[in-house]
Amino acid sequence: MIVTAGRVLTAPDEEPLQDGAVLVAADGTISAVGPRADVIRLTGPAVDRWDLPDDTVLPGLVNCHVHLALDAGPDPVGALRDTDDGVLRSAMAERARRLLDAGVTTARDLGDRGGLAAELRDTIAAGAVTGPRLLNAGAPLTVPGGHFWFLGGEVADDASIRAAVADRARRGADVIKVMASGGHMTPGGAAMWEPQFDVRQLGVVVDAAREAGLPVAAHAHGTGSIAACAQAGVDTIEHCTWLVGSPAEGRYETPGHVAEMIAAAGIYVCPARSSGWARFPRLDSLLDRLAFMDGHGIRMVAGTDAGVTGSRFEDFAAGLGLYARAGWSPARILAMATTEAAAAVGLADSIGRLAPGFSADLIAVSGDPLTDPAALGRVRFVLARGRPHVPAQVSA
Ligand SMILES: [Zn+2]
Repeated sequence: MIVTAGRVLTAPDEEPLQDGAVLVAADGTISAVGPRADVIRLTGPAVDRWDLPDDTVLPGLVNCHVHLALDAGPDPVGALRDTDDGVLRSAMAERARRLLDAGVTTARDLGDRGGLAAELRDTIAAGAVTGPRLLNAGAPLTVPGGHFWFLGGEVADDASIRAAVADRARRGADVIKVMASGGHMTPGGAAMWEPQFDVRQLGVVVDAAREAGLPVAAHAHGTGSIAACAQAGVDTIEHCTWLVGSPAEGRYETPGHVAEMIAAAGIYVCPARSSGWARFPRLDSLLDRLAFMDGHGIRMVAGTDAGVTGSRFEDFAAGLGLYARAGWSPARILAMATTEAAAAVGLADSIGRLAPGFSADLIAVSGDPLTDPAALGRVRFVLARGRPHVPAQVSA
């Protein structure tokens, strides 16, 4: 198959090709990228063609933080409790398709129930269901009665931490998720800014995950938990909001030495912000904390926590608007959703750019994302592992 376009962005850090083309092999990888005339010369007459002369073609987007088991409604936890696995299975497939509609060709699910995300990952990979490449964590590790305990990941001591990690590895998890601090969606248990695990226990999580060959994604709102995660050497810190008290009171603390430790360790931060950022009551403070992390050289990647209240699966580009508001360049924002995100989830060698040997994950958008990040919200066509998909908003 060949995809031709008015403009091809092979990667945020490369020169755009005018009038370019991408040649896709039968195995779903890219075999050539270049000027249209050159690529067409490589093909026979029988090749499938998608011509998109008015659009920009670029690498498929990566959402580093989603929850396919949650419905994004007013009470996702209650809705999940009232949904049996059969209904949940089809709801999750529908949500995965909406991620793809938004140009997300890879999504990392950081907490589901009953191994359904892993099942869906495999069904999509086999081509039986339309959706993005999924990476999954299974049930997040949490303390008894702690944040999201109802997903089934309670661990009480070192032995149960090790057993839980080994169990996830055996079930084919791609990443281990640990709830280092409390959160706001679980009644009872630790508050958002309070730790659930100390640095020693987080070290056990990291050690067990390394043994299983898996990375660790840590949910951390509290400044103390963030420091403990950095010290324990997790791979990504999710949220990283630097809270030291109730968010309603806006109590934050940003110690420079902790940010330096995160940057030096090469730990990625995923702020996990949905399109709701624009309604955040303390936007200035949020922007200050982003600038603080940026100023200390922390690498940040895109994720939306899709599935939690108000974070819809089709809203990826609107979440990126936060970083435009922070004054970051369109190329950098694109990198947060492509090359940098690919590196953060451990797939820098196969996704995030358009190059021979990489997965044929690409999207076509109207407009130029290098001058206008909002163009990422105007997805016209998606190729996911070489499989064409016309988004619902286009086919409707
Ligand atoms: Zn989350």
